[in-house]
Amino acid sequence: MDAEEFLNVFMDRLETRMKGTKYEKAIKQHFGGVLTNELICKGCPHYSEREEPFLNISLQVKNKKNIYQSLAAFIEGEMLEGDNAYFCATCNKKVNTLKRTCLKRLPNHLILTLKRFEFDFDTMAKIKVNDYCEFPHKLNLEPYTQQGLRKAERAKKGDQGDQQDQTNTKEYPPSYFEYKLTGIVIHIGVADAGHYYSLIMDRELTDLPEEKRWYEFNDTIVSRFDPKDIPSEAFGGEEKWRYYGSDNMMGSYKEKIKNAYLLIYERITPFPDEEETAPTEPPKKEESKEDKDEGPSQANKKGENAITEPQTTQPEKPESIEDDIAKNIPHEFLQQILEKNQTFHVMKNVFSKEYFEFQAELFLEREYSPNLNYDETHEINVKTHPKQFYDLLMIKLATTFFLTSIIREKYRNQITDILPALKKQYAQVCHLYHFLIF
Ligand SMILES: [Zn+2]
Repeated sequence: MDAEEFLNVFMDRLETRMKGTKYEKAIKQHFGGVLTNELICKGCPHYSEREEPFLNISLQVKNKKNIYQSLAAFIEGEMLEGDNAYFCATCNKKVNTLKRTCLKRLPNHLILTLKRFEFDFDTMAKIKVNDYCEFPHKLNLEPYTQQGLRKAERAKKGDQGDQQDQTNTKEYPPSYFEYKLTGIVIHIGVADAGHYYSLIMDRELTDLPEEKRWYEFNDTIVSRFDPKDIPSEAFGGEEKWRYYGSDNMMGSYKEKIKNAYLLIYERITPFPDEEETAPTEPPKKEESKEDKDEGPSQANKKGENAITEPQTTQPEKPESIEDDIAKNIPHEFLQQILEKNQTFHVMKNVFSKEYFEFQAELFLEREYSPNLNYDETHEINVKTHPKQFYDLLMIKLATTFFLTSIIREKYRNQITDILPALKKQYAQVCHLYHFLIF
């Protein structure tokens, strides 16, 4: 499963799990947009369109220098003419018709997939397209939307108003189309093997300039990322390779196998929910009616990504974020998150200097019984010999700590006292090993 397939499955499952909660529309509200498939008759004034919801848009990168070219190809469409012409039912005849797909409504968070995986019918194998394809930090999508295309067409025709204006579409303000880049999923590797990692802009640290807010999330490693490196990390293309030969240095260009696969753009000024104008296909129509009925109470009210709510929203009782999370995340999912977070914190601190010093102090500061009288037959019981019992427990802890942590850590030189102290205890009690392994 590649990252795009994963995204679709993930979104779908999230949506399923959120059904019946107040977040059930959240995916659509944040990421859902609408495309329109238009048929624009050229020989007569008729026009038809069919809307189609989307959660992400796939763009070609092959032979496209930048995503503006990809977007232009996306909306290019084709002319149906001659034998292939479209049959206009109103005119009852075939007319030359432009068939195209363009963007109609845009979400606050727009996911673009760069088509980097293709099937090669010559070799019958999946291949990766490593072509160079630039993408900007700021993106204006108006030229690729129905509104933008109509505006351009009107300007071309001298604003005489043509047939398309009959469909009353609502005019969006310029800010509706303005996006900024906030995330990139990088794929490094070949078509059937590789690794993904993400570059993400922190959207909460608003007191820092945007270029200081980028991070690389690479498995469990999170590090700062300088967005100036986006071109070399994510645009793809070729890079210079140097070979050191016997007497001279050779250079050649080789395709980079590291490049952006998913792009996440965020609308600079979030636009209010557009539920009232949901897709007009029959099943969607029902949904949109429901939305109207339930809209206000369903509206998402939290998070930096929250879509601006309609003014009619009923005020809800303030809830702590913990309550809110506990109520709305399925229990086992929440449990998994808590466990992962716990593991993460343990991993984060287990090699910290403070923890090492604490462990060393704990072991070294203790006064041990001078002769730990212990052997296999003489059981040390917490009730009868509490002092010895805890002495042994402490030795066990220090031994485990030594074997699992100290020998792998850079601070080990600072706490070498543990080893001689441990040796001393072992010398006193030669049967200690028995206690240790049980
Ligand atoms: Zn017609």
